[in-house]
Amino acid sequence: MEMRAVLKKYFGYDSFRPLQEEIISKILEKRDVVVLMPTGGGKSLCYQIPALMMPGTAIVISPLISLMKDQVEGLLVNGVKAAALNSMNDDAENIRVRLACQRGELDLLYISPERLMVEIPYLLQHMQISLFAVDEAHCISHWGHDFRPEYAQLGQLRETFPDVPIVALTATADKLTREDIQKLLSLKDPAVFVSSFDRPNLSLEVRRGLQKREKDRAILELIARHRDGCGIIYCMSKKTTEKVAEMLVGHGVTALPYHAGLGTEERERTQDDFIHDRVQVVCATVAFGMGIDKSNVRFVIHYNLPKSIESFYQEIGRAGRDGLPSETVLFYSLADIVQLSNFARESGQQEVNLEKLKRMQEYAESDVCRRRILLNYFSEYAEHDCGNCDVCQHPPQRFDGTVLAQKALSAIARADEQVSARTVIDILRGTYSPEIHKGRYDTLKTFGVGRDVPPHDWQDYLMQMLQNGLFEIAYDEGNHLKLTQTGKQVLFHSKKVVLAVVRKEEMPPKAKREVRKVKSPVLFADSQQPVLLSDERKDLFEALKALRRRLADEQGFPPYIVMSDKVLHQLCESCPTTVEEFGCISGIGDFKKERYGKDFVEVIRKFV
Ligand code: ADP
Ligand code: ZN
Repeated sequence: MEMRAVLKKYFGYDSFRPLQEEIISKILEKRDVVVLMPTGGGKSLCYQIPALMMPGTAIVISPLISLMKDQVEGLLVNGVKAAALNSMNDDAENIRVRLACQRGELDLLYISPERLMVEIPYLLQHMQISLFAVDEAHCISHWGHDFRPEYAQLGQLRETFPDVPIVALTATADKLTREDIQKLLSLKDPAVFVSSFDRPNLSLEVRRGLQKREKDRAILELIARHRDGCGIIYCMSKKTTEKVAEMLVGHGVTALPYHAGLGTEERERTQDDFIHDRVQVVCATVAFGMGIDKSNVRFVIHYNLPKSIESFYQEIGRAGRDGLPSETVLFYSLADIVQLSNFARESGQQEVNLEKLKRMQEYAESDVCRRRILLNYFSEYAEHDCGNCDVCQHPPQRFDGTVLAQKALSAIARADEQVSARTVIDILRGTYSPEIHKGRYDTLKTFGVGRDVPPHDWQDYLMQMLQNGLFEIAYDEGNHLKLTQTGKQVLFHSKKVVLAVVRKEEMPPKAKREVRKVKSPVLFADSQQPVLLSDERKDLFEALKALRRRLADEQGFPPYIVMSDKVLHQLCESCPTTVEEFGCISGIGDFKKERYGKDFVEVIRKFV
């Protein structure tokens, strides 16, 4: 069978995404291949299709058992013969899988790297191997943050199996890692494919200087826009995850905290509830997400600033893997910067970590298209503004902020540079706080000169002034603010300062969504925007979701494995009333058509 036919038969798709076809051809020629694609880009098909076309079994090396499970289940529901060998299996299962391998019954075998090493002299010698796919290949490199010692031994593969093609796949882009992968896997003149790291279906938004109450409100509004969609809220501390989850539960949202302080069992249960759509929101520390392949995460919120752009991009990358529009919001405040700087300075690698934080901060404070900054960070150059970030949608307006800046700088100077940002705001606003009393700052000439500007706006202006280099924060001196040369020029010589008008929030959420709908571009030709559903269609969607859940429960699979949200949307739009029509939907292969067609068509018929 030709590769397009395989794509249609097993996966139900009509066309390949960019690079997939080229990659598959190279593998079929038995070349070694390196594939760099962002999460959700479609890496798996690149080796799954050759696995279906070449004689023998493809061995897929994957570091995480949960990912293997996901992949294997996803293949089984498409009628592909796949299995996994790992420490989760019981003996009976292991015997069954090994036998199937020896008989050549499997198209794909997923295996952990440590298990692979053990099996090289045994099982692997007694089976026909079509290819090796090394998933998350960056784990072999010391450069990234995910180095795994078990991966280091994979270099043996090339030596032991000189004629079997090796496919290395990763979503981690940098050049050093890429070179390490080629070298450490001993790849022979590999064909290297690098696809764009852009994820245009993710909207990008930064909200700065919000107080706790404002953050809560913003989160509730966002969740209200995603009535049926689930999401992740990343928080800096364990305590915050619990507080945010509690707040959400108080407002009738199903939410759970997730952090390293919870027991293994509780964490696994939470993860499982999330994967199976039993809980809508997980409020988590960065510990959450590794190994979660859930394709229908509709939003990712950062309650606090992440420590680097890499972490940020990886975390928001967990939204919208199915290519449907998904929302990401980053909250950030001066307090976050202070705290993260302290963490960075206490870390072993303070220079690197402070630099990373600085880049993150620049992203958050930027007033050029945020996607451009992200892509640029990953050495990609974007030709156009994206139209799907807050800067593109509400370009900042500017004004001459010299006098405003002078007021703040003067307050800092008159307080002998012995005050934190918070106290500066108290001085400007003429607010009596314990620090004000202690330092007798109420006697300063600047006390109360900024009463007309709300505290939130002062926060914002101070942040902009920090970004413009008018003062620095002395982290080793109680986070006091210190004027820089530029700051002094502004204060004493009226050097001009241009500031951005603080964005007044709250376009009504609905209008906002309309803007998105028109403007947001699509990731792939195959990921068309869902049409907004009428009420009647919404009922159909609900009914299809219920059916999907029932079928998933029967098989013990997560709902998104049985059918993606995207397929459900398409079903609502085209309403197939025969099994044949059902089979024409993108994402429905022959196996799913036979297995689920009748049930779905039956439900749809009731609505049309
Ligand atoms: P990755 O491993 O790169 O994170 P996946 O292989 O999981 O990405 O693919 C992401 C999603 O895109 C999956 O839902 C997959 O079925 C879908 N997909 C991949 N290739 C195509 C294609 N050619 N047409 C339509 N959908 C595709
Ligand atoms: Zn933009």
